[in-house]
Amino acid sequence: MVDDERDGVRLTSLDAPLGDGLEVTKGDLVDHLDAFADRLVPQLAGRPLSVKRVRPGQEPFMQRSVAKGAPEWVRTVPVWSSGAHREVHQVLCDDRRTLLWLANQRAVEFHVPFSLAGHDEPTGIVLDLDPPEGADFGVVVQAAQLVRRALADAGLTGAVKTSGSKGVHVVVPVRGVPPEDAAAATRALAARAAALDPDLATTAYIREDRHGRVFLDSTRSGSSTIVAAYSPRIRPGLPVSAPVAWEDLPAVRPGDVTVRTAPERLGDGDPWRALLPVAQELPADLVAEGHTI
Ligand code: ATP
Ligand code: MN
Ligand code: MN
Repeated sequence: MVDDERDGVRLTSLDAPLGDGLEVTKGDLVDHLDAFADRLVPQLAGRPLSVKRVRPGQEPFMQRSVAKGAPEWVRTVPVWSSGAHREVHQVLCDDRRTLLWLANQRAVEFHVPFSLAGHDEPTGIVLDLDPPEGADFGVVVQAAQLVRRALADAGLTGAVKTSGSKGVHVVVPVRGVPPEDAAAATRALAARAAALDPDLATTAYIREDRHGRVFLDSTRSGSSTIVAAYSPRIRPGLPVSAPVAWEDLPAVRPGDVTVRTAPERLGDGDPWRALLPVAQELPADLVAEGHTI
């Protein structure tokens, strides 16, 4: 078995399969996270982290609590878990060595909330676009254009990335917005975007009410999480959540960017950072409209 040490972190069994059916080794995951550390850590820093992990012979599992036996330099923050009915200690991945330590535990997906630990105000809002079962990715692209128009009509701009799975995420950095207002504005944006083409997109939470339309999910802001840009997903070949310029979106095929192709496809820069607009204030009428939904 091939072992290694980077930044003082011991990395083990790098030549072993990462997990069942994933078609990559543990080393492929470690190399990707190492290469993208400078672009991932700024998105994770200061935010209670949830990771989705794999192990050969096991189902993938979401982990919020820091793993037992963590080195003393791994920072954590206590967070109340309403699901678990207790306080859990979540990792704050503030540096490369913490990311590598997580990589060695086969943490593949990195999910973070839009608010920093100890703060209520979100740093961004997101619309999570989910395609209907069996649909072509093209419908998600069309729905994303509706969201872009709804944003522009409200005087806002957002950045788009693939989820690395089936859909896309449209992110709008915000400032000075209380959490309830951010949630309201997100609902209003989703409603306005769906109204632009009600045959294509819907805000219906109930699956049976979607009737083959793209679901504009407005509930992923605040303390719920979204997968970070450049995070791999637990799917064959480890596709990566990839930033896309709006103009390039029609040419995107999900699964194009994987841990193997990411260095070539995404380059050495930080396209997500480059594409994200500055933090914006949310228009009062949008917030007010959202509070009626
Ligand atoms: P897809 O393109 O397949 O929809 P996704 O990452 O957008 O991929 P969603 O199910 O739409 O997946 O969820 C959006 C986000 O909400 C996820 O990125 C994740 O951060 C969070 N999330 C969803 N389900 C869970 C869960 N069971 N536990 C924790 N977080 C979750
Ligand atoms: Mn969703
Ligand atoms: Mn989604």
